[in-house]
Amino acid sequence: MAAKHRAVLIPGDGIGPEVTRAVVRILEAAAAPIEWTEHLAGIAALEATGEVLPQATLDAVERRGLALKGPCTTPVGKGFSSVNVQLRKRLNLYAAVRPVRSLEGVPTRYENVDLVIIRENTEGLYSGAETRITDDVVISMKVATESACKRIAHWAFRYATQRHRRKVTVFHKANIMKMSDGIFMQAAERVHEREYPNIEYQDAIIDAGCMKLVQDPTQFDVLLLENLYGDVVSDLTAGLVGGLGVVPGANFGDEYAVFEAVHGSAPDIAGKGVANPLALLMSSVMMLNHIAQERNDERATASSERIKTAYNAALSAGEKTRDLGGELGTDQFADAVIARL
Ligand code: ATP
Repeated sequence: MAAKHRAVLIPGDGIGPEVTRAVVRILEAAAAPIEWTEHLAGIAALEATGEVLPQATLDAVERRGLALKGPCTTPVGKGFSSVNVQLRKRLNLYAAVRPVRSLEGVPTRYENVDLVIIRENTEGLYSGAETRITDDVVISMKVATESACKRIAHWAFRYATQRHRRKVTVFHKANIMKMSDGIFMQAAERVHEREYPNIEYQDAIIDAGCMKLVQDPTQFDVLLLENLYGDVVSDLTAGLVGGLGVVPGANFGDEYAVFEAVHGSAPDIAGKGVANPLALLMSSVMMLNHIAQERNDERATASSERIKTAYNAALSAGEKTRDLGGELGTDQFADAVIARL
């Protein structure tokens, strides 16, 4: 029998360990060809090793090339900088991809949402460059480099072409942030003009774009955004399809890929066994598809298809967690999916 693919599992904080446990159980039941090595990040790592992002975790992701990661808690307004952001920067995972789709069995205001958010992951206001210049004033630096703007624009148009998507829309605020958002937008314009004229291209000022998104999300297809806008608009669009419990994500660089749900560690429901593992399960399906494509492994394709069919059937039968209006807990939902594999 062919060897399994070795990948790093980072349980994370809050609801992270509960949802990763459920997902690993489903992947095993679906015969996914993955062998896990577990590593820590976040508060869990801080308590065990004194560091929020241990070098051993980074080394392991570099060695295996792949990781499935639960959310890590970030203290608000104080304390260490976000582990999620640090990890993306340290491993140069510059492109975040978040498919936002309506699901059968999860009724929402819209039935046919099919968007892909592509978020620049390494700069913008998430540079973390903040400083107090007087007692009264602090400043935050928004960093935009032409090379990173071009890199993510290329990534987005390449993705759109490979996935047969029709249009890329850049959300920006280049009327106010003329330089930083200006080069982000211009990079996309140029890449479109020179290399991808067959894909439709559009730009929208982000405030008006958000209004249009909630009025009629079907007018958009692939959305390309800088770091902060990508973060905010990911949650906004999650709200169009049932919430944070159903939106998966992946972070890609040229060498490594880390798969994680859009949601955070949700401390309000941590440890209660009620979190929805679906967003992380869908992220693991993205990981299997990535393995199938990059390493040409039919076992990965087969297990990914089985999992997708099983969770869609469970949702359609009303087997859902509470965030989706159902009654199941995390483990019960995992059992329901496993029963339908
Ligand atoms: P961050 O700022 O860390 O990205 P966030 O804005 O994504 O976090 P979360 O902590 O994920 O915020 O969650 C916001 C709320 O959404 C939570 O309080 C929780 O009630 C709900 N939520 C998030 N994820 C899930 C989930 N997997 N299952 C059920 N509810 C969830």
